[in-house]
Amino acid sequence: MKVTEHINNASKALFSFEVLPPLKGQNIQTLFSNIEPLMEFNPPFIDVTYHREEYVYRDKGNGLLEKRTTRKRPGTVGICAAIKNRFDVDTVPHIICGGFSKEETENALIDLDFLGIDSVLILRGDPIKSEGKFVPDDNGHAYASELLEQVGNMNQGKYIDEELQNASATDFCMGVAGYPEKHFEAPSMKSDLKYLKKKVELGAEYVVTQMFFDNQKYFEFVDACRAEGINVPIIPGLKPITSIKQMTALPRTFYLDLPDALVDELDKCKDNAAAKEVGVEWCINQSKELIKKGAPCLHYYSMGKSDSIYAIAKAVF
Ligand code: FAD
Repeated sequence: MKVTEHINNASKALFSFEVLPPLKGQNIQTLFSNIEPLMEFNPPFIDVTYHREEYVYRDKGNGLLEKRTTRKRPGTVGICAAIKNRFDVDTVPHIICGGFSKEETENALIDLDFLGIDSVLILRGDPIKSEGKFVPDDNGHAYASELLEQVGNMNQGKYIDEELQNASATDFCMGVAGYPEKHFEAPSMKSDLKYLKKKVELGAEYVVTQMFFDNQKYFEFVDACRAEGINVPIIPGLKPITSIKQMTALPRTFYLDLPDALVDELDKCKDNAAAKEVGVEWCINQSKELIKKGAPCLHYYSMGKSDSIYAIAKAVF
């Protein structure tokens, strides 16, 4: 079932979460054992992130360096199928522009269609470290809106590959990202919302937000979206803090602010175990208020670990 169907059929706020494909070479069992306990809370869908290639330089042995590309977390398509089979749950792959040509994207989407995947979260992808700023593939997309157009075309039976002109149309429900604290490259919130609206006009049926720690930012963002005529469901993305280091790493990586009250609590923590407790407690309070104020679904960023999210879901759902 599509994400929007799950939301429309629900009589209360839904619980969902995002997982990362295992690092290359690691066993999928660790991922399964992280998902297993969370199934107690009946997630209608689980997201699986997509990771673009990075460059590595290998010594060729003659003093010269050879540039190679590698994907540290491969397998999003296969992992979606494996989770869907194993837990009988819908999976939502993230599809990114970065590192993919339009043809590669088309092929991945055809695979997802064969696998019975009904929804995709469509993203641009972050810049890779060595490039600093986002560089699209030579024959790829520069913005999520362009990728959205490609998937929208496939939903109307229009493919890039000429041999597919008689192929049946896909029927993907398309989600996109939104930023309560503004995307870091956007010159202003107004500009960011203009492009978010464009994504909705091109067929995005729901938005999942970047993580935030101050609910007020989410409420203001939803109000601003509604004022712009963006009327699709806006799913809040939440991440419990799990270590002292994240107090500085999360704002730096995701361009967000931590509320003073949370920083004060984290400042008192002597170790990561204490910070984790603070993080769980904070996220429980955030979750309860978001549900009370009508969020359609709460979406948790697991970043590969499930114990904090289990504790939050136990207290909230
Ligand atoms: P876009 O919507 O393309 O926007 C990017 C920037 O360009 C914004 O500043 C926007 O305002 C601006 N913009 C948009 N369209 C135009 C235009 N036509 N002209 C000029 N400016 C424009 N990254 C991954 O690599 N893999 C993942 O699995 C992943 N999952 C994510 C899940 C969620 C819920 C979120 C919130 C983010 C995720 N990301 C992921 C990170 C995401 O790829 C980055 O935040 C990326 O920098 C922007 O992606 P976007 O889809 O929002 O881009």
